Amino acid sequence: MSTIILHDCVMFDGHSPELLDGADVLIEDREIKEISNRPLKSASAQEINLGGRFLMPGPIDAHFHAYAAHVNLASLDDWPMSLLSQHARTHLEAARQRGFTTYGMRSIEHANLIDKQKVELVAQRGAYVVPTLVTYDTLGKMRKELDLPASNIAKLKEIQTAGLTSIVLCKAAGIKLGFGTDLLGILHAQQCREFLIRHEVLSPFDILHSATVVNAETLNQQ
Ligand SMILES: [Zn+2]
Repeated sequence: MSTIILHDCVMFDGHSPELLDGADVLIEDREIKEISNRPLKSASAQEINLGGRFLMPGPIDAHFHAYAAHVNLASLDDWPMSLLSQHARTHLEAARQRGFTTYGMRSIEHANLIDKQKVELVAQRGAYVVPTLVTYDTLGKMRKELDLPASNIAKLKEIQTAGLTSIVLCKAAGIKLGFGTDLLGILHAQQCREFLIRHEVLSPFDILHSATVVNAETLNQQ
């Protein structure tokens, strides 16, 4: 059995907005067994002192296109699978370096244009909603590089504004909001900006809770 003790971290557990300062964490065979605010000991454990660093569950991106090697998805029809796989490997590795650990989901995606009536229906059914705002924001910011037509820009702006309103409506109705990005090709590098954009209408706790605990629930990995 492999045992690791992490000493002295600031712990965010995904459930509570309160941080646990000076925490020790006991991990046995890759599973967290104990989190404590007193020093944990084990004769056989590998011990790592985190020196007050922040520790949290790895965020989950619920809407991730690993194989989207280019923003123009139609152009990928002619690409060989070996080349697409190489791009997928690069996208997944870069996302892992940004802290994201898991992908894939059962939920209502985007929901940018959801209205009050549909929000009530979703809330009644207990369904999850995964907004994906950063993809529209980034397409708008990179419109020149991507050579997007003017008609697309107007539509993007409309969806962006509606997306934030949808989040407010969903939250007020008690709908569980997941976290996703829906980025394509070179846009994948913008994955972490989803956190910043959501901060216009959500608290830091709500955003991190979405990317950890709520997404884990939708994957049955809570
Ligand atoms: Zn998508």
